Amino acid sequence: MTDKWLPDIVPLSPTALEQWLRCPRETLLGRVLGLPESDPGASPDHGLFVHNLLHQLHAQGSCHDAAHVADLLAAYGLDDDSETRGILERHARRCPNEPTSGHHEVDLTRFYRRPPVMFMASARIDALWIVDDVLDARDYKTGFRSIDRVADDPKARLQAWVLAHFAARKGLRLRLRWEYLATEVDEDPEPFVPEDDDLDAIGSELAAVVIAMRTDGAFTGHAEPELCARCRYRSLCSESLAPGELSWPAALLGS
Ligand SMILES: [Zn+2]
Repeated sequence: MTDKWLPDIVPLSPTALEQWLRCPRETLLGRVLGLPESDPGASPDHGLFVHNLLHQLHAQGSCHDAAHVADLLAAYGLDDDSETRGILERHARRCPNEPTSGHHEVDLTRFYRRPPVMFMASARIDALWIVDDVLDARDYKTGFRSIDRVADDPKARLQAWVLAHFAARKGLRLRLRWEYLATEVDEDPEPFVPEDDDLDAIGSELAAVVIAMRTDGAFTGHAEPELCARCRYRSLCSESLAPGELSWPAALLGS
């Protein structure tokens, strides 16, 4: 049943993968049918602002240059904002000092084709630094840490699979780091430096996910109370254990 709804080459981003693993029914509603969220979550404004701030900081100078940091904070009227200052100071302690090159918000893809499975994995990475023979990839995180090792997170594994392919073509080794910016987080999780065996295993894992998407049949939801309570489609989903009031605008509801 699902096979006819999916394209021949299934797109697989870290967010799409996470959504599928969280609840196949959410994938059906959000990605296959493309419905708007009935229960939008908190606004990501703070995270976006911090990401943009780091982007600007690196584009116009160095995060290790105290005067440059002070100028940027002043430009936003944040001279006395200890939280933002703390974020930038924490970041500077972790950021490469003299990279050969660096890029922000880089989109990369990697194609997988081993019949009968085809998918196009994609990953947007916040910053890519080249330091000696290492491709130092950074995903900036503004929330709280939930893992001890980057290699343990499915989204990171997908990122690594895509990034390692790019690194190999450049003759570089990949190191994927999730850099936590909140000053409350003591240590970042252990970075992922994947070996060939790791990458082969990840390719097989992702292929298994795509096969499951094609063969599971009904996008059956996981229907767990805690999961449903946080779901952005909980008021729309016929399987929800925590339905709420549908928040779509009246025009969408046809009234
Ligand atoms: Zn930096």
